[in-house]
Amino acid sequence: MSGRAVLVTGASRGIGRAIATAFAAAGDRVAIHHRGSADLAVRLRDELPGDGHVVVQADIADPGQVRRMADEAAEALGGIDVLVNNAGVFFHHPITEVSYEEWQAAWRETLDTNLVGAANLTWCAVRHMRRGGRIVNVSSRGAFRGEPEGPAYGASKAGLNALGQSLAIALAPHGISVGTVAPGFVQTDMTNEHLKPPRGDAIRAQSPFGRVGLPEEIAAAVLYLASPAAEWATGSIIDLNGASYLRT
Ligand code: NAD
Repeated sequence: MSGRAVLVTGASRGIGRAIATAFAAAGDRVAIHHRGSADLAVRLRDELPGDGHVVVQADIADPGQVRRMADEAAEALGGIDVLVNNAGVFFHHPITEVSYEEWQAAWRETLDTNLVGAANLTWCAVRHMRRGGRIVNVSSRGAFRGEPEGPAYGASKAGLNALGQSLAIALAPHGISVGTVAPGFVQTDMTNEHLKPPRGDAIRAQSPFGRVGLPEEIAAAVLYLASPAAEWATGSIIDLNGASYLRT
């Protein structure tokens, strides 16, 4: 079998789709993970360049489904060389506007998916990895800048950053590197509504380039962090926000 075995979560659309496409274009075999978008995932599998791509399904917030899915991906691809934790959710839940029940539901679902789900899948995937393995987490600018309308999202991504840094140290002796990308606004299904004028104009103006990011720009950085050349970049977090937020 040629190429590396790559598992990308939330790959049926948006940034995940661009990441899956970029790996396939580089000659790798991709396990396209989805939750409930089998049609989209199968269509993407059939469109990807190269062969050996597969579709796997799981609710990332369900630990049992995550373990089954990781095992299926490894079985189909002959191991896992690269894991990309991309699947994520954002809920609008401003503290002064939502009920206590809504507040708790937003925190629970966000953390279960964005942070605990990624941690669980990483535990499972590491057991299928050899030396040279790579884990790339898709975080967010919001981890640093704050997310006033979605505080659970910001906290989940800050947790994901810390998870990646802890595992970079824990997994280095096993020859596995862990990197993180932190995009600002990216044009995807998740953000389409927000990017309509006039609110979208203000969002585009956050960057001195006067635009938001493209999924392909995120995919390029993920490919770098997953490359053999990126071992020394382990533990790093790459900002991909067009200078819309410069952290110190
Ligand atoms: P998207 O909504 O298009 O894609 C997210 C994917 O995750 C979807 O395919 C969705 O089905 C999947 N997913 C969500 N919950 C799941 C669950 N419980 N189980 C399985 N799959 C689940 O959004 P996107 O913009 O492509 O986002 C991809 C990643 O990039 C997310 O982690 C997001 O937080 C991050 N991000 C996006 C932006 C942006 O502006 N679009 C900015 C920063 C970070």
